[in-house]
Amino acid sequence: MAKQQKQLQSNDVMVLGAGIVGVSTALHLRRLGLDVALIDRKHPGEEASFGNAGIVQRNGFVPHSMPRHPLQLLEILLNQSTAVSYNLPTLVRLAPWLKRFHAAGSDKAIERYSRIVAPLRAMAVEEHLDLARTTNADRFYRQGGWLHLFRSEASYKKTEAERLYARVFGVAYNELAAGDANTLEPGLKAAKMKGIHWLDSWSVSNPGAVVDAFWRGYIQEGGRYYRGNAQKLRQERGGWVVEGEQGTVFARHVVVALGAWSMDVLKKLGESYPLAVKRGYHMHYRPLSGASLSRPVVDIENGFALTPTDNGIRLTTGVELAERDAPPNPLIIKRVKRRAEELFPLGRQLLKEPWLGCRPCLPDSLPIVGASPKTRGLWLNFGHAHDGFTLGPITGRLLAETIAGKTPMLDISGLSPERFQA
Ligand SMILES: Cc1cc2nc3c(=O)[nH]c(=O)nc-3n(C[C@H](O)[C@H](O)[C@H](O)COP(=O)(O)OP(=O)(O)OC[C@H]3O[C@@H](n4cnc5c(N)ncnc54)[C@H](O)[C@@H]3O)c2cc1C
Repeated sequence: MAKQQKQLQSNDVMVLGAGIVGVSTALHLRRLGLDVALIDRKHPGEEASFGNAGIVQRNGFVPHSMPRHPLQLLEILLNQSTAVSYNLPTLVRLAPWLKRFHAAGSDKAIERYSRIVAPLRAMAVEEHLDLARTTNADRFYRQGGWLHLFRSEASYKKTEAERLYARVFGVAYNELAAGDANTLEPGLKAAKMKGIHWLDSWSVSNPGAVVDAFWRGYIQEGGRYYRGNAQKLRQERGGWVVEGEQGTVFARHVVVALGAWSMDVLKKLGESYPLAVKRGYHMHYRPLSGASLSRPVVDIENGFALTPTDNGIRLTTGVELAERDAPPNPLIIKRVKRRAEELFPLGRQLLKEPWLGCRPCLPDSLPIVGASPKTRGLWLNFGHAHDGFTLGPITGRLLAETIAGKTPMLDISGLSPERFQA
């Protein structure tokens, strides 16, 4: 006989998914005075929000679209690129998505992206710091920006659009001539490399701990948290129900903030969005011979980042196009490590296995934030791609304000789910 589920308190809103996006949304909803239930099958912040490079990026006005240079494309097709690798059946399955992703690299699409993302980025750092101050997470944050390093003049020139938009939107950077990066970061082996120092970005020493601190702040402010499987979501009594591990959770509204797993739930509700997954890995290393870094450093050609964390130097990789649930490919981090060692002396490996995470990606590189155009009481906040750690707190705030019936502090029409309705 089926076990009778305990009926838990009913809520105004339930938020599905406790990554940086879901936790920030739940915290803002709670601060607006709503009764909130946050649901995840794991402890908060254990998926993509745990293992990222921890950069809170003030710049970033050109979307991560398909490389257009023939040599770069050839390198990717031959699976020789350190920045992008793929599994052939996945690449074939993703062909229609990749076509849309490619279109997002046109001049017009870049202009649109930059216009939509600029106000979000302008508020992103402030929003992080505000949540951090009130949840005791500020100890993880550091100023000092981040560095882009270029191995060739050609790759430096290819990123000119990013600098142009940065000037348009008033985002500060310094151009680094060969040798300058080493003055800033003496541990680097980059004496001959040109670079850009993005001055206004911040970074954190432990992204997972930041999400955990935000979640603790949410609980302290009276937010409820339940373990449960979001795939069990169903509509009932004019609202939404999930059978959690502790009992039945009911709410009038539901927010889907399940990152790379969002479509597992939305498909069942008849909702269709072109969400794909770009996987990425990290490994931690002890620096050799006392070398250190004080800010994240990115190798632009090879798509990896080196970030100083509480647990060693974190090497994060670029993109792997493989099925979300396929086993990890241990060769990727090995290949990236060889290139990373050309820039920084990496010593002993500090984790047994590489960490693997899934970036939830829409073809225009913007998240979906807003009400479902089809289903009453269903709200969406997912698809933050390469920028979820940066943008989670601000999109959480904007969606919470909308659900609470307020005018959001920034216009979110550019993030509307309706852009994907046929
Ligand atoms: C290698 C790498 C480096 C990155 N570096 C940066 C960076 O420097 N800066 C930046 O801004 N972004 C970065 N990102 C991107 C960023 O990490 C993601 O965009 C962001 O973490 C997505 O947050 P999220 O809350 O949407 O998803 P997640 O953090 O993945 O959270 C989704 C949650 O849903 C839960 N869930 C899934 N299915 C179910 C279910 N059926 N029932 C219940 N719960 C479920 C999961 O347990 C999880 O807690 C990086 C990503 C990677 C992979």
